[in-house]
Amino acid sequence: MNFGGLQKNSLIDFPGAPAAVAFAQGCGWACPYCHNSRLIPDRCESPISAEDVIQFACQRPPRARNLVVSGGEPTRQPDLPEFLRVARQHSLRLKLDTNGSNPHMLQQVLDHGLVDYVAMDVKGPLPDYRRYSGKRECAPTVKESIHILKSSRIPYEFRTTVVPNLHKTTDIARLAQSLEGGRVLYLQPFRAQHALAQSLRNSPEPTPAMLQEFCDVAKRFIPVKIRS
Ligand code: SF4
Repeated sequence: MNFGGLQKNSLIDFPGAPAAVAFAQGCGWACPYCHNSRLIPDRCESPISAEDVIQFACQRPPRARNLVVSGGEPTRQPDLPEFLRVARQHSLRLKLDTNGSNPHMLQQVLDHGLVDYVAMDVKGPLPDYRRYSGKRECAPTVKESIHILKSSRIPYEFRTTVVPNLHKTTDIARLAQSLEGGRVLYLQPFRAQHALAQSLRNSPEPTPAMLQEFCDVAKRFIPVKIRS
């Protein structure tokens, strides 16, 4: 695995416990609101090895031996399953963050019980996905990944970064409808400061009232929580 960053401790990224967060380098998409754009290129100046990530996570106190594999997009790297397998052998508890672009690998990871939890971004209504991902033809893979998670026994969440300039109430309703029957959807606010698209850097962030309105609309289809 090729990692471009390691956050040594996070209290918000792993359900119910502190965790280290390793950021896989490289992403095939270009979401205009991406706040981790330095992770989009396949190469970075100071890569961190898989061995270093696992070694660091293993040195944490027992209750905190939790590792989030985030990105970039981890499922673009063919050796993700092997990395997770080795991490498992070291008794790490594992969470995968994914944009759902590689359903085949997601299925493989779930089938082999390589993670304890998955968080998948669902960025907007599927027919309009290019607007949110900056990438053509990605909706079918996202749709397949949604289906895989809904059918999975491993705990998971869907999550949507709410961008006022990109999401209207009807968009959230259509998005949530595609998740009907799913476990939970988290709505989280967009942060303008480091957005990939210059045009969004000074755009408004969602207000609490907007998040609540979107929550009320979406919960007709799926349980919804707001993450601040
Ligand atoms: S926000 Fe979009 S572009 Fe940025 S890492 Fe995630 S999927 Fe890739």
